Amino acid sequence: MKIIRSPKTMTAWSHRLRREGVTIGFVPTMGALHDGHRALIRAARLKCDALVVSIFVNPTQFGPTEDLSKYPRPITKDRALCRQEGVDICFEPTAATMYPEGFQTVVTVPDLARRWEGAIRPHHFAGVATVVTKLFGMVRPDLALFGQKDFQQAALVRRLIEDLNLGVTLIVHPTVREQDGLAMSSRNVYLSPEERAVAPVLFKSLQAGAGGIRGGVTEGAGIQSIMTETLRQHSDAAIDYLAVCDPQTLEPLPAVTSQAVLLGAVRVGTVRLIDNMLVSVPAKKKR
Ligand code: AMP
Repeated sequence: MKIIRSPKTMTAWSHRLRREGVTIGFVPTMGALHDGHRALIRAARLKCDALVVSIFVNPTQFGPTEDLSKYPRPITKDRALCRQEGVDICFEPTAATMYPEGFQTVVTVPDLARRWEGAIRPHHFAGVATVVTKLFGMVRPDLALFGQKDFQQAALVRRLIEDLNLGVTLIVHPTVREQDGLAMSSRNVYLSPEERAVAPVLFKSLQAGAGGIRGGVTEGAGIQSIMTETLRQHSDAAIDYLAVCDPQTLEPLPAVTSQAVLLGAVRVGTVRLIDNMLVSVPAKKKR
């Protein structure tokens, strides 16, 4: 496995391979890799000739009071995981080369970024959209894998690829969970043992909402209260949002008629957890 730090070197490598007809797969990450990332890397490995994983803790997607400086950076372990999984290039640009003096372009996807994570983290998605566009420009992938765990991010990247004709095939990989349902996340290491015990409550409340839909509840408000009550029963976690939304637009659904995505974010102690679940209304049973 080759480690590339310079964006120019990265682009030159991609350019050469593309000319030879090699397909390039790409998994962008912020490092602190876990089995969720591993699943994306494995899925990508099967779909391309050459595989690039980027590790870049992107400063522009963090708010001023967020965890940029303490975000975990176990680079040796991360490289070992990439090596194990047959990654060809570990791309590790620095903030100084990503955002040199004079840098000013910002990519925004306003409607998809407005609600949910975007409402709580105002500059987050502009940071994400800009860095993803830049990374795509450097890596020139044929396909890119993102996790369903960050549902709003994946929706936004899909829009961005379409709107800017980036020609990248997006694959969204299902969320990888711990045995008790907690979605794997690099930030789970912040949870104390007591908080870790409470953390699966978000998954439980999404499951309860999904159960409501499958059981015939159609009003968005009704499903939302099932989720809220489940959360309240099991914890005193602070709710940022628990919402019933259209999976494409992410707008709240007054009534669920075909498909919905249940989006949730809660705070357990000081740790923010996000998760989601796609649910389809069951086809009516034939009599
Ligand atoms: P991050 O390093 O948190 O920026 O995540 C890099 C990529 O891995 C993103 O596309 C995430 O959605 C994805 N990812 C993170 N956690 C999981 C998970 N538990 N299951 C599936 N994908 C994940």
